[in-house]
Amino acid sequence: MQDFEFLRPASVDEALQYSRAHPEARLLAGGQSLLAAMRLGLSAPTHLIDLQDIPGLQDIRREGDLLHLGAMVTHARIAASAVVRGFCPMLADLAAGIADAQIRAVGTIGGALANNDPAACWPAGMLALDARFVTDRRTIPADTFFTGLYATALQPGEMLLAVRIPRPDAAHYRKQEQMASRFALVGVAVARFGTGEPSTVRVAITGLGNGVQRWPGAEQRLSAHWSAAQLDGLAWSASAALGDLHASAAYRAHLAQVLCRRCVAVLPAASAVATPEPAASRPSPFRALAMRLEQFLQTLSRSLTR
Ligand SMILES: Cc1cc2nc3c(=O)[nH]c(=O)nc-3n(C[C@H](O)[C@H](O)[C@H](O)COP(=O)(O)OP(=O)(O)OC[C@H]3O[C@@H](n4cnc5c(N)ncnc54)[C@H](O)[C@@H]3O)c2cc1C
Repeated sequence: MQDFEFLRPASVDEALQYSRAHPEARLLAGGQSLLAAMRLGLSAPTHLIDLQDIPGLQDIRREGDLLHLGAMVTHARIAASAVVRGFCPMLADLAAGIADAQIRAVGTIGGALANNDPAACWPAGMLALDARFVTDRRTIPADTFFTGLYATALQPGEMLLAVRIPRPDAAHYRKQEQMASRFALVGVAVARFGTGEPSTVRVAITGLGNGVQRWPGAEQRLSAHWSAAQLDGLAWSASAALGDLHASAAYRAHLAQVLCRRCVAVLPAASAVATPEPAASRPSPFRALAMRLEQFLQTLSRSLTR
């Protein structure tokens, strides 16, 4: 790791001033991707601008039909939040399925989205839910935020402040995990807006190798009629996926279809008015206790580092 200077601003303005003054600086969220990249010599910032003391970036709140998640909200807090679960259980379940407890305790939704790892779960969830990305200069729709492998529409020095997520009538995320890391070999998020037919259905796939993508063929069929059978005969092309040592392109393409079908199968029929919480997604008492403990330890560790 090369030497760097550590900066700990207390406001967004101060962080942006540091960014402008040091063009080779990088924003630091939980460090779960950035510090690994620095250790591998893939990134050598002159300064790290730590965002953890900035008020407001850790907010979770309802804003009418939108859910506001500050960029520094950790996966663990999202998994344990009753506000999040009440708004859209898929978000809490997705967060609970990320990596392990240590990574969930410090990894953030903002860091994960700005990093846009091609196997990460959040990009699929946010693209399916048509989230809006609020930065210090503009609001970016999900369809234009993710621009490729580890690439987003964020400009140098632009800071992601929050994501605002519309409330779906039904949504689900399924992934086939890469066994060692729990990153997605392939992960599929399906969200339905509207309860009648036709409705608006968005399908987003992560893990195919080129960055998160929507699946227009599946969206058209499911928007017309909400049924897993609508996916019969529809396949993701293996030429639109990449293979590596973990899985071939053909296997990944196959998983895209299977996981999409499973998402549709667990969600309520199109005539249902509300989004019932699927029994399988409700945390067991043990899991709920573990999540509360995780949250407590995180708060404790933050106060000790202050
Ligand atoms: C072993 C392992 C397993 C994982 N498994 C999963 C998984 O199953 N699913 C999944 O989705 N993710 C997974 N992750 C990713 C993890 O969830 C982290 O969220 C992700 O690594 C980003 O880390 P971070 O939030 O600490 O951000 P950092 O590492 O601090 O930052 C990441 C990048 O985002 C930039 N950045 C951070 N905050 C902002 C901001 N507010 N505005 C603009 N740019 C910003 C940084 O400059 C940096 O370039 C895994 C990570 C590891 C190490």
